[in-house]
Amino acid sequence: MAVNEALVQDIVKEVLAKMNISGSPKGMHGIYTSMEDAIEAARKSQQIMRNLSMDQREKIIQIIRRKTHENAEILARMGVDETGMGNVGDKILKHHLVADKTPGTEDIKTEAYSGDRGLTLVEMGPFGVIGAITPCTNPSETVLCNTIGMIAGGNTVVFNPHPAATKTTIFAINMVNEASLEAGGPDNIAVTVEQPTLETSAIMMKSPVIHLIVATGGPGVVTTVLSSGKKGIGAGAGNPPALVDETADIAKAAQDIVNGCTFDNNLPCIAEKEIVAVDSIADELMNEMITNQGCYLASKEVQDKLIATVMDAKGRLNRKCVGRSAKALLKMVGIDVPDNIRCIVFEGPKEHPLISTELMMPILGMVRCKDFDEALDAAVWLEHGNRHSAHIHSKNVDRITRYARAMDTAILVKNGPSYAALGFGGESICTFTIASRTGEGLTSAKSFTKARRCVMSDSLCIR
Ligand code: NAD
Repeated sequence: MAVNEALVQDIVKEVLAKMNISGSPKGMHGIYTSMEDAIEAARKSQQIMRNLSMDQREKIIQIIRRKTHENAEILARMGVDETGMGNVGDKILKHHLVADKTPGTEDIKTEAYSGDRGLTLVEMGPFGVIGAITPCTNPSETVLCNTIGMIAGGNTVVFNPHPAATKTTIFAINMVNEASLEAGGPDNIAVTVEQPTLETSAIMMKSPVIHLIVATGGPGVVTTVLSSGKKGIGAGAGNPPALVDETADIAKAAQDIVNGCTFDNNLPCIAEKEIVAVDSIADELMNEMITNQGCYLASKEVQDKLIATVMDAKGRLNRKCVGRSAKALLKMVGIDVPDNIRCIVFEGPKEHPLISTELMMPILGMVRCKDFDEALDAAVWLEHGNRHSAHIHSKNVDRITRYARAMDTAILVKNGPSYAALGFGGESICTFTIASRTGEGLTSAKSFTKARRCVMSDSLCIR
């Protein structure tokens, strides 16, 4: 459905004005001034949620899906307006993907054992109230995806979002509560505070009401959550390499890699962050990217200017550069390029700061290696042990297998763009919380449940 541009801008302005952060967001469901009040509201809501039938939970989820489709453009524009990161077109696609491919109650399966001594069921029940910490890179996408999975499991959720994405998060949280009320469910299935801080996060983590904390973000937050003394699901940072060997279809590899790298201006944690190419095809690959895939070849001088602009002397990222387009980044270093330039490329050693750092910008350095073995070692080094995501373009099954084993990542895409792992052009569920560090991988409703054994001794086996 085509959306009227002026109308959407008006809605975004109206919503942002309504949520003037100095005042209370008027009339928004699930939004509290204090974290204690937010947790209490989610606790009460969970008492109702736990008694809803699976059908009733599924009805709420269906309405969240519908509202996410209807509001995809508004949410995308709000995310870009508020954080300054990413691009509206790709963020719209991400919201449709969340609505279509995030698993609901069907993800929760019961195991049964039956025999001479009776019947035993292992059922997956709710944790109760979950605490969730969300990133500024996919703010509403993560809130919506987490909420669908968490309520499918019978939980309610308290969010402590990134402060840079508060308004977008509040809009999404209000929307899921409206969906629940429309379905006849409780209010406050998801809650948050008007002004999230590290203090509100600490209150949430220490609350006796909360038994599971799900953190999506960089290494700092995952470490904090895993030190909380509670069960944590840690979806941390990545730095995914794309390895290309001499057996690959080089034109397709160039297209897939640049498409994946530039999706939402490189914000997804799974997106290609650097290339490792074997020497015999490296020139051809670079040439393809420059000639046919809208890449700008950065000279040594431009690389140095980019380093000085996108990070400080200690290698910390300049937040004003994260999630910006290639054109915007080049403009920051004094270079004007046409609109069809979508990625900045160059060749360098693996230690180059623009290659070894997880930039979340469409800057793609290529490391040249003499053969596959050297490329494999470089890719392992570049992934920094995150074990998050890695990609490969090769027709050699033995090499793909060796790569998969050596990388040991939660996601490995072969001969496709990274976003195939999220269900775009690939067979997969969608999630924006990829728990590489704690091992759940692509999280879904079942990740947010706990196993409960229910035993009927000596009865109900009718075999
Ligand atoms: P970030 O780490 O700066 O912030 C993420 C969240 O953690 C925010 O809500 C922030 O307020 C909170 N936070 C940070 N430090 C904290 C602490 N010490 N205690 C409590 N809360 C804390 O990350 P970001 O810039 O918002 O997002 C980008 C990072 O997240 C990248 O490293 C990216 O790879 C990663 N990421 C991972 C996944 C995944 O599924 N694995 C998904 C998206 C983003």
